[in-house]
Amino acid sequence: MIELRTPAEIEAMRPAGRFVAEVLATLRDDTKVGTNLLTIDNRAHEMIRRAGAESCYIDYHPSFGASPFGKVICTSINDAVLHGLPHDYTLRDGDLVSLDFAVSVDGWVADSAVSFVVGTPRDEDLALIDTTQRALDAAIGAAVAGDRIGDISHAISQVARADGYSINTDFGGHGVGRVMHGDPHVPNDGKPNRGYPLRSGLVVALEPWFLQTTDELVTDPDGWTLRSVDGSRGAHAEHTVAITADGPIILTDRSFLGVD
Ligand code: MG
Repeated sequence: MIELRTPAEIEAMRPAGRFVAEVLATLRDDTKVGTNLLTIDNRAHEMIRRAGAESCYIDYHPSFGASPFGKVICTSINDAVLHGLPHDYTLRDGDLVSLDFAVSVDGWVADSAVSFVVGTPRDEDLALIDTTQRALDAAIGAAVAGDRIGDISHAISQVARADGYSINTDFGGHGVGRVMHGDPHVPNDGKPNRGYPLRSGLVVALEPWFLQTTDELVTDPDGWTLRSVDGSRGAHAEHTVAITADGPIILTDRSFLGVD
């Protein structure tokens, strides 16, 4: 079921969005060559506790999950791109890091992801991250009341294809509200002017992610971490966006912190 939020409810979602923005900005700043993934999770957990927020991940146990996630952030490294379960791994020079973080504050969820390189970046990794970010920008630009879900999907896939990446539609954007995953599904590929009409009050997480040379994933033995089938690297960008009569509001925008 698709739920629409009143302007007052969208205002009430802002603290969750701001908190998620602050945590991702802080973690990106703190994460360096030599940082352990379990340390990133511990820092995120500490910030959640201090803020009195609630993790959407720690008890998350969907049908495809082997057991509850047990951590508060997804850390996907290099050829891992989604649902990376933090484990005892120390980041090395040139590692491509994707952090995906969702919490509930005052009963409202916000969900956002960012990719970056620690240490010396490879050109192809920076290009992939840039394409993913521009696809998210295009998606947000298409999140306009009166248009349709397919317009957002098409905006994402156009950016990816122009840069030579293929698209996996198994995992994509989703409605966000009292819980992390709601309707509608927002695939990362689609046809313009098709699908559910975008209405004021619809709040969605938009999340393009691409792999360098494939669109196929395999699941790690941990039952969570999704990695490219060919070892090529992945990047992910996500914001929670409210569609309003005055245009899209990026609830998880980090620009107020002076970072992108
Ligand atoms: Mg997310």
